[in-house]
Amino acid sequence: MNNPESGRILIVDDDPIIIRILASALNYYDVLMFAKTGTEALKMIEQHEFDVVLLDATLPDQDGFEVCRKLQGKHMASDPRVIFITGRTDVDDETRALNAGAVDFIKKPVRVEIVQARVRTHLSLKLATDRLRRQSQVDGLTGVANRLEFETALKREWQTARRLQSPVSLVFFDIDFFKKLNDSQGHRMGDQHLKTVAKLLATAAKRGNDLIARYGGEEFVLLLPGAPLTWASSVAENLLAELKDMKLPHGESPYGVVTMSAGVATKIPVDEHYELLVEHADQALYQAKNARRNMVAKYQD
Ligand code: GH3
Ligand code: MG
Ligand code: MG
Repeated sequence: MNNPESGRILIVDDDPIIIRILASALNYYDVLMFAKTGTEALKMIEQHEFDVVLLDATLPDQDGFEVCRKLQGKHMASDPRVIFITGRTDVDDETRALNAGAVDFIKKPVRVEIVQARVRTHLSLKLATDRLRRQSQVDGLTGVANRLEFETALKREWQTARRLQSPVSLVFFDIDFFKKLNDSQGHRMGDQHLKTVAKLLATAAKRGNDLIARYGGEEFVLLLPGAPLTWASSVAENLLAELKDMKLPHGESPYGVVTMSAGVATKIPVDEHYELLVEHADQALYQAKNARRNMVAKYQD
């Protein structure tokens, strides 16, 4: 096979003949895996990412409806679409499958063309939804996360940190004299500077749950779960120094080059209110702006 189509398919059936038929019908997809029981299927879905799961309604250990229901409650990166394949043909079963969260229902004996067509349809819808979701999380200009995605990540990390009683740090960054930069060099050049700064800041989001996001305008925020105040401040200090060292000309700034200011705040969550952390990091940024800009200010409790 020369050019596999992109699609990650899991076939779940206890009948090896059905598995063989479906596997050869769908062999042009780039990932094709198999499971023979419900338990095996759930484990594989946890360990790998799938786009479509072809699920037999009758399995030896637990029925397909049960498997499907269990999947609905799970928080998964890939969120696969489930298509039931079954010899049971009454309307009740079809309704049960759809109620359990399946997107479609194919009757046995399977016709290869029908399986191919249904899989293709659901796969293309799934991939389009994935693309839209990704786009909705990203800032169009800079390619870093947007504010909505930041809020979602902060809520999630705040809950985790509250459970673990570990710190969460936030650093707000704001480019200094950006309006003057726009006025003197033009909006397009301003956009270029935003991209450059975003790229630099993204290098600081090193660990899995770190996140850099565009908060708005020329303001960015770095989320560092687990980082104490000293750590987050030194990350910020390094980033400010790196930007200054790039020596991007800014004739209207007393520093002569593009600089930014940062405000850092850290908390160990005691309740659900993460908003205070945002507020305090923002207040620290305001202090840095009021002092001399091109500096990092820490919020002190
Ligand atoms: P300060 O040093 O106090 O931060 O001053 P400042 O001029 O950087 O801050 P201010 O908030 O007054 O100005 C922000 C400017 O950012 C105003 C706005 O036109 C510009 N801006 C916001 N979004 C964009 C964008 O997407 N592209 C460009 N080029 N400019 C933007
Ligand atoms: Mg600014
Ligand atoms: Mg601003």
